[in-house]
Amino acid sequence: MSLTIYDSMAREKRVFEPADSSRVTMYVCGPTVYSYAHIGNARSAVAFDLLYRVLRARYGADHVVYARNITDIDDKIIKAAAETGEPIEAVTKKFADIYRADMGALGVIRPGLEPTATGHVAPMIAMMERLIGKGAAYAAEGHVLFSVDAYPDYGKLSGADRDEMIAGARVEVAPYKKNPADFVLWKPAKEGEPGWDSPWGRGRPGWHLECSVMIESELGETIDIHGGGQDLRFPHHENEIAQSACAHQGAPLARYWMHNGFLRMGADKMSKSLGNIVLAHDLLKDWHGEVIRWALLSAHYRQPLEWTEELLKQSKKQLDRFYRLLEDIPFTEETGAAPQSIMLALEDDLNSPEAFAGLHELRDIAGQMDGEAKAAAITRLRDAGRLMGFFNVDPAQWFQAASSSGPSAEEIEALIAERAEARKTKNFARSDEIRDDLAAQGIILEDGPQGATWRRA
Ligand code: AMP
Ligand code: ZN
Repeated sequence: MSLTIYDSMAREKRVFEPADSSRVTMYVCGPTVYSYAHIGNARSAVAFDLLYRVLRARYGADHVVYARNITDIDDKIIKAAAETGEPIEAVTKKFADIYRADMGALGVIRPGLEPTATGHVAPMIAMMERLIGKGAAYAAEGHVLFSVDAYPDYGKLSGADRDEMIAGARVEVAPYKKNPADFVLWKPAKEGEPGWDSPWGRGRPGWHLECSVMIESELGETIDIHGGGQDLRFPHHENEIAQSACAHQGAPLARYWMHNGFLRMGADKMSKSLGNIVLAHDLLKDWHGEVIRWALLSAHYRQPLEWTEELLKQSKKQLDRFYRLLEDIPFTEETGAAPQSIMLALEDDLNSPEAFAGLHELRDIAGQMDGEAKAAAITRLRDAGRLMGFFNVDPAQWFQAASSSGPSAEEIEALIAERAEARKTKNFARSDEIRDDLAAQGIILEDGPQGATWRRA
């Protein structure tokens, strides 16, 4: 079967054919590391992780090269460092580490390449020199600007009228710009700010240039797939496209463009500037990463997704039902190829709701079986879920994992120990009381030959 993906540039679903199936290349715009990622940022990471998994299943894990950058120099980072008094490198290292840990907890496979902006300043200077040489960029007052008039296709990805886009994005009108739509590739560093020496004075790179250069350095001139959130189409991706095409004799930056839809809180997009954010880091204290991942994949990646507590509760409930069945086979990390029905759903532009329906079907089939046939059906179900990043927990641990309410595992263990003691001294009233108290909090005890075990109802 073929893999189809919705190409935001063509504005239609296209069959995906990599330029070289032994080296499929994808790039996704990663985090600016000055604070914690919110769950909207996580949606982007999880959606493209699902794509990465499907590509690996199709072409082989060694044949997919995935780069997700880390933007470690930026006005917001400088501001955050100034506020806490920490060195910039300490801030960026801290939040890059937290980002990796949080995304890892959401089942996001770490991309093979994680280029940093500060690690690519020399090739950025080289690209600007090439662009200036071709007349596609110019230096003015310590800045280097890209001349949008040098690229006739500017605006093709977002499709909107250029003047409208500029008004919408509140592009800075500056006296040194030849055209108000021209954007900054390099800007001067103020006194005390971090900077690098360049032919145009001490300064630092602009965000758009970073991605074009990191793609060129890490993956090549033209990549197979470029991804990011819908909000990045303009100006960020439009600018990446223009820079790269002009630097590479018109060669396109990406053969396919993919954009995830917004995660919303009520009617609004979740964003740091609106202040309506929920941090992935905080959610992970109350919910297992697989629950959050399930919630994120419950809508198709291009559709808007409204974030609610109820969505998390429903996701937990669904996963519990699967884990209940997974308890019937011994736990192992070994994973086989995913059944075709799941691959088919995901190869249709990452149709995760359809893939979830497929998981439910596999569960129903397994539920009607007995003996070895049942064990085989549950194994198939597990393989299917694992392709999507689920069912990686030993079911016994799953049912003990922290939930947003109720006593902690330590509190429960302590009460179980007290109950065992009470039973030894034939204090059955106390023993029953502990069991009933726990039951009232949703903790179920099961007495066995090795003593009592517990799970959350
Ligand atoms: P940022 O740190 O704002 O550059 O965002 C990192 C990634 O998350 C980008 O790909 C954004 O497009 C994406 N993103 C930001 N906010 C949301 C949201 N509310 N829903 C979905 N994706 C988002
Ligand atoms: Zn980018």
